[in-house]
Amino acid sequence: MAAVKEQSIADKLRALHALQQIDSKMDEIGILKGELPIEVSDLEDEITGLKTRSKKLEINVADVEHEINQHNANIKESEGLIVKYEKQLDNVKNNREFDALTKEIELQKLEIQLSQKKIREATVTRDTKKEALDTILAKLGSRSKDADNKKVELSKIIEKTEKEEAKLLKESDKARKEIDERLLTSYDKIRKTYRNGLAVVTVARGACGGCFNRIPPQLIIEIGVMKKIIACEHCGRVLIDEAILEGHEA
Ligand SMILES: [Zn+2]
Repeated sequence: MAAVKEQSIADKLRALHALQQIDSKMDEIGILKGELPIEVSDLEDEITGLKTRSKKLEINVADVEHEINQHNANIKESEGLIVKYEKQLDNVKNNREFDALTKEIELQKLEIQLSQKKIREATVTRDTKKEALDTILAKLGSRSKDADNKKVELSKIIEKTEKEEAKLLKESDKARKEIDERLLTSYDKIRKTYRNGLAVVTVARGACGGCFNRIPPQLIIEIGVMKKIIACEHCGRVLIDEAILEGHEA
């Protein structure tokens, strides 16, 4: 058992309240930091996914463009052949040769039409993919910006809170030395029970400052005289009369 000097109940309550204030500040820092790293990592996951999708689409667009170029090259080739065959037509020696060349020219014209049709189809595909890519790139840009901002925010918090946390930890240690072990044990136990980490609360407008249940008038009087430590009968938190804090707040 730590040696604790003789304290009045009021002293004990003040010490408990002081410890609660310090611990609540540490909780606030924990909450601040606790959410940002998750937000940053969620954003980074999303960014990775968007990058993968945009890379895939870029490859798709490039493939379709390659296909279009191929068709254009085929058209050029057919056009070249047509020019060649038409020149040969000027020097045909017989009907058979004429028919063969005319047939070849027709065939090349059909090839051109087929390529043009394929180009039209591929162009629609390419534009659709490009549109999807643009949407993803825009999203990627905005998410990256969000992630950068949050990273800056987080590093600022860490930078700022490192010192504050160290300071609060020292203060908490010091404050704990003023409180006897039995009380500390129940304080820690109640703090762990509640998500907001409040184990010591003030009475506000006749209600518990922790669970907001009504406190019987007789109990409020007892809390006020501070002859013993009184816990809320609903939530178990230590109840304090705001009056004892006056002159002790910063
Ligand atoms: Zn309560």
